[in-house]
Amino acid sequence: TVPVLTIDGPSGSGKGTISRLVATRIGWHYLDSGALYRAVGLAAAWEQIDLSDEDAVAACAARADIRFDAESEGGEPRVIVNGKDATHQLRMETAGAAASAIAALPAVRAALVDLQRGFRRPPGLVADGRDMGTVIFPDAGTKVFLTASAAERAERRYKQLKDKGVSVTLDGLLGEILARDARDANRAVAPLRPADDAVSIDTTGQGIAAVVEQVLALLPA
Ligand code: C5P
Repeated sequence: TVPVLTIDGPSGSGKGTISRLVATRIGWHYLDSGALYRAVGLAAAWEQIDLSDEDAVAACAARADIRFDAESEGGEPRVIVNGKDATHQLRMETAGAAASAIAALPAVRAALVDLQRGFRRPPGLVADGRDMGTVIFPDAGTKVFLTASAAERAERRYKQLKDKGVSVTLDGLLGEILARDARDANRAVAPLRPADDAVSIDTTGQGIAAVVEQVLALLPA
């Protein structure tokens, strides 16, 4: 079977950056599952679907055409949602909040399972999200759970968004991140938690390169 490395954790834990770098280093594919939830939230908003209407959002998820294009600026792929370039909109915290709302709906999660598993192709997959190790790839050979203090996570998001020219305040962002984490951790379906066999890494105060090395060291030779 095709090997999988799962990297789960809360927003701002460094998952996205670390996952991409690790995938590049070992030449594996990369699944940004958060981008799928963000894309569905956005597509539903475009279609003026009520984000609490489970059946309607699940249908929207099932028919959504979500594509990751090759490199754009900043090394992050462009995301095309139903034919529209949604790269910038998807990064906004409003998209994160919409994603978190629709991600609590079981039918929506179910609609995205096969799509996510389809990313598992040779030579291997690095899967980034909240439930990669618990629900989507329970048989993954290596599972990582990344954490960091809430203050540091807010700081990282703040820098990321500021670099991209988005105007936000650190305090506002901290509040939004804490609210989103609480919702992700407390929802009934696929709550954010480490898999029993995951290795937890606290990235507070650690540089990106050091964390990448720790993750690489967990992979079988
Ligand atoms: O990782 P990212 O911040 O892009 O994820 C956005 C939201 O999508 C999360 O707050 C979470 O509610 C949801 N999500 C999820 N399961 C995943 C990935 C993301 O529920 N595997």
